Amino acid sequence: MPTPKKSRGVPKELLMLRALNPRMALADIDRRKYYSLEKGYQGEVMFDAITEGMKNNCIVLNDLLFKLKGKYFQIDTIIIFQKTIYLIDVKNFEGDYIYKSDPDRFCKNDTEIDDPILQLIRSESKLRQLLDEYRFNLPVESYVVHINPTFTLYIAPQNNHVILPTQLNRFIRKLENIPSNLNGGHQRLADLLISLDQGDYPNATKPTYTYEELKKGPYCSKCNSFSVSVGERKMVCNTCGCEEKLESAVLRSVGELRLLFPEFKITTNMVFEWCGEKIEKRKIRRILQKHFTTRGKVKYSYYE
Ligand SMILES: [Zn+2]
Repeated sequence: MPTPKKSRGVPKELLMLRALNPRMALADIDRRKYYSLEKGYQGEVMFDAITEGMKNNCIVLNDLLFKLKGKYFQIDTIIIFQKTIYLIDVKNFEGDYIYKSDPDRFCKNDTEIDDPILQLIRSESKLRQLLDEYRFNLPVESYVVHINPTFTLYIAPQNNHVILPTQLNRFIRKLENIPSNLNGGHQRLADLLISLDQGDYPNATKPTYTYEELKKGPYCSKCNSFSVSVGERKMVCNTCGCEEKLESAVLRSVGELRLLFPEFKITTNMVFEWCGEKIEKRKIRRILQKHFTTRGKVKYSYYE
């Protein structure tokens, strides 16, 4: 069994877009970003499910952002084996892609997009420099894994670092057959890489929104409908029938509020307004008191 040392979190930018999407009409650029982040994330999660099932001795580190010489580079998955480090970039591209030549470019339809192999080569070089800096000298092998079964690559380059959906099973079997005995040095390497992880991109672009323009109210966690009936202890969606504990619906709303407006102090009145005045203040207060620390004097109390 691989030791999953670092699991994957949902990127903050994606969480924000998920929270905004039901509440406003996203600008085109944000909507495209949302779609592409969601898709990329879903692909990575699919790949995680596969690595979790591997049966040999290795350490899997997911979702790392490193800083080298002032510049950031991100790696979807690192797998540490006894003698090799695997760097894996997961792509969830859908449909037909082609490598065109003269000049060399990677295209969907006629539109050129960033070539995943070039990105991979860059990440590999940077990871090697990083390892070098800390005197680890395991060789690095890197791969782009295309996880979406509808992905087709015409004129695939002569390059065995690209794993197409039809080759994925074979690739995983190859990884599973790597003989591997890990020791303290490998653990130290994993701990080092985790300690160097920078979390979320500090200068990720933020979508544009204001508090006023956002639609208020709790919405269904399944279908995003704002048409919900609030009962004493639960909330029922009038569109899809999905039921959610009121406590969980309120906490979800508070979570969004804190994510989208980290500068706000969370008060009962604020959450009442954010929930479209649909949930009684006494219920909101009870839930806030249970899950957060109360600060300030009674009348002006807020929650952290
Ligand atoms: Zn629903």
